Amino acid sequence: MSGEMPKCGICGEGIYEPAEQPAGQHESCRANFGLHALPASRRPARPCDRCGHHQLVRCLVRERGAAGNNYVASYVAPLQVTFARKVVTKEAFFSGKKSTEVTNQPAVQGQAVGVLEAYVCRQCGFTEWYTVEPEQLPIGEAYGTELIDVGPTTPYR
Ligand SMILES: [Zn+2]
Ligand SMILES: [Zn+2]
Repeated sequence: MSGEMPKCGICGEGIYEPAEQPAGQHESCRANFGLHALPASRRPARPCDRCGHHQLVRCLVRERGAAGNNYVASYVAPLQVTFARKVVTKEAFFSGKKSTEVTNQPAVQGQAVGVLEAYVCRQCGFTEWYTVEPEQLPIGEAYGTELIDVGPTTPYR
């Protein structure tokens, strides 16, 4: 049957152009829920550190926020460790495209950097945090971050 329209995995409504919605969910629904694809996990494939259980739930950690003045709208967005400064380039602005670059220019808008993911033990609930793409984190007081180099030898080695 070719007439069967796929349904969005979030809202359950039909997806008219499945080729443009590769996750099987409306892109607008994914945006509403702050969902996005995560890169490959960097957590070593090992059991829970506390109880040794072998089943963990990998979670994209999100928070609910609100924006607007007269018409306040709530949204769900990924939790992240810091914000870089997002600057819309002149070319992008005039072309109407959304492309942005992260620079050290004065802040226009906060760009989320360092999205958090959590691994929750399915048995004891112990939760481990990881930050996606840690090498991308900007360092400095303006970002609320500080680089700490503990040197080549530590007592934990
Ligand atoms: Zn939907
Ligand atoms: Zn556990």
